[in-house]
Amino acid sequence: MNILSDYHTHTSFSGDCNVPPELMIQEAVAHGIQHLCITDHMDYDYTDGGICFEFDEKEYFRRLLPLKERYKDQIDISIGIELGLQSYLSKKHHNLVFSNSFDFVIGSIHLVHSKDPYFPAYFKDREESDAYYEYFLCALQNLEAYSNFDTFGHLDYVVRYGPNQNLFYSYKKYQEILDEILRSLVKKEIGLEINTGGYKYGLGTPNPCQEIIMRYRELGGKIITLGSDAHLPEYLGYEMKQATELLKECGFSSHFIFKQRKPIEIPL
Ligand SMILES: [Zn+2]
Ligand SMILES: [Zn+2]
Repeated sequence: MNILSDYHTHTSFSGDCNVPPELMIQEAVAHGIQHLCITDHMDYDYTDGGICFEFDEKEYFRRLLPLKERYKDQIDISIGIELGLQSYLSKKHHNLVFSNSFDFVIGSIHLVHSKDPYFPAYFKDREESDAYYEYFLCALQNLEAYSNFDTFGHLDYVVRYGPNQNLFYSYKKYQEILDEILRSLVKKEIGLEINTGGYKYGLGTPNPCQEIIMRYRELGGKIITLGSDAHLPEYLGYEMKQATELLKECGFSSHFIFKQRKPIEIPL
């Protein structure tokens, strides 16, 4: 099997992953991935659920740079990060991004007013559609506060965890706010991540769903990145073939990897 790229993966530098970076790299080689980006979680002030999602970025580069060199004949490795956006953190994120030479930065929303939709409490005592809307509103507000990142991670992440997941969910239902988000991404030249974790969660689509991917293109978006969000070796490159076919159906003929924050176009 040959997989073009996986630009969203985790290692033991993430609070919710126990797999050492070298093992993840060896498994990525075994999975036939050509371009791998390690994007561990940096979620400052994450207090929901009692896990710490911060790591020492100097140690991160100390560990990953020799591995990148050691495996360079087998796989192209980039060093990235997944920022957990919260609008008041923009200064801190700015400093982190500018004082380290990441190849690639994902901006993701994991917390909405300090609550992670991953936990049922986020949905408690309210309509599912209100909970989804609030997530998108938070995404939009974060984009206004801070946008120095390369791709927007799992745009409809909230849908993975809703009581009915995507049963009553559609792009149309949230069109107005989703269009605002997508227009903002296009204007700021930020990519849209196709996160195949959605397949793993049984949605039958990646995150975001097909209509959103098509709409991003319709509004002029070009920068697509592909990521499995693997926290375990078996999910590296997960359903990437299916995602690639979906992208072609949506009218895309290429996707992007990043080196030193510069996009590189790769045909699908
Ligand atoms: Zn994430
Ligand atoms: Zn992730």
